[in-house]
Amino acid sequence: MTLLDRAIVRLLPAVPKPVVKFVSSPYIAGPALADGVLVVRRLNREGKLATIDVLGEEITREAEARAITQEYCTVFEAIESEGLDSNASVKPTALGLDLSYELCLENLETLLRAAATNENFVRIDMEDSSTTSDTLRLYHDLRARGFDNVGIVLQAYLRRTLDDIRTLADVQPNVRLCKGIYVEPSSIAFTDYDAVRASFVSCLDALLDQGSYVGVATHDEWLIASALQRVADLEPLEYEFQMLLGVREQRADELVAGGHRLRVYVPYGRYWYEYSLRRLQENPAMAGTIARATVGRVLGRS
Ligand SMILES: Cc1cc2nc3c(=O)[nH]c(=O)nc-3n(C[C@H](O)[C@H](O)[C@H](O)COP(=O)(O)OP(=O)(O)OC[C@H]3O[C@@H](n4cnc5c(N)ncnc54)[C@H](O)[C@@H]3O)c2cc1C
Repeated sequence: MTLLDRAIVRLLPAVPKPVVKFVSSPYIAGPALADGVLVVRRLNREGKLATIDVLGEEITREAEARAITQEYCTVFEAIESEGLDSNASVKPTALGLDLSYELCLENLETLLRAAATNENFVRIDMEDSSTTSDTLRLYHDLRARGFDNVGIVLQAYLRRTLDDIRTLADVQPNVRLCKGIYVEPSSIAFTDYDAVRASFVSCLDALLDQGSYVGVATHDEWLIASALQRVADLEPLEYEFQMLLGVREQRADELVAGGHRLRVYVPYGRYWYEYSLRRLQENPAMAGTIARATVGRVLGRS
């Protein structure tokens, strides 16, 4: 990241909203469910699966958490009525984890029941490390209550993850494995790029060894190549690759053409602005694009 990129990333919140919208448009379906439906339909036509994410995290009022839960129930209805091949991904804080563990558990149960009516599936996203233990506890509690249509996310950058995999072994979890996106201290997370990669491979091996279904969520070519070697003896329905909407689409097409299941994470919702800022701050390569778009807009005005 150049000094200019760093400066632009810090200044992102001051960037005009239309510019953020323009730059982030490939990564977000749009503000409404209908936008998400359109994108998923296109992805399905391309032979890709989807997971729909209703934008909204760190909810501060119970009513908001319940409203997002209801929105997800509508998502499952739309998936069914539109005949889409998609499940849903949900952030525990969007369902009220910051307010109370019980509220979040109750909302997740509502969601899992709505999904189960159409034999669909809910993936619980993993957020920052302050939520890891509670999120794993939610998963354990849901499984103990008999819900099988639920999966978890594990972050390879956390030093605890291999132990978590061992602890989860007896329930054979359906796991999305990713590097982890939040900034965490080196006391609990690998911060070196190669160390995160090495941990990802160790976690993937451990999960496959214990018979878990794994969603390999990465755009990192080195990791995709390592994963391809590791799944070579598996049947196509025994694993999948996952990518974010708008990222490395050509590589996604190649994986589909190679006979692999490929799922795309499709976010939509009225909180698109907050989500975009976070994603753009995480992806400094976009900073130059934002700078060009901002300059273009300013010049266009004058
Ligand atoms: C389907 C999916 C779900 C995820 N869910 C979670 C989750 O629940 N919790 C969590 O902490 N993290 C989640 N992540 C994010 C993940 O942890 C990583 O932060 C993110 O995927 C970037 O890591 P990478 O493995 O792609 O490797 P990187 O080394 O970061 O990326 C490799 C290359 O991919 C491209 N690239 C990567 N990300 C972007 C981007 N946003 N925009 C444009 N290009 C990009 C770049 O060319 C980059 O050089 C998810 C990722 C995916 C794909």
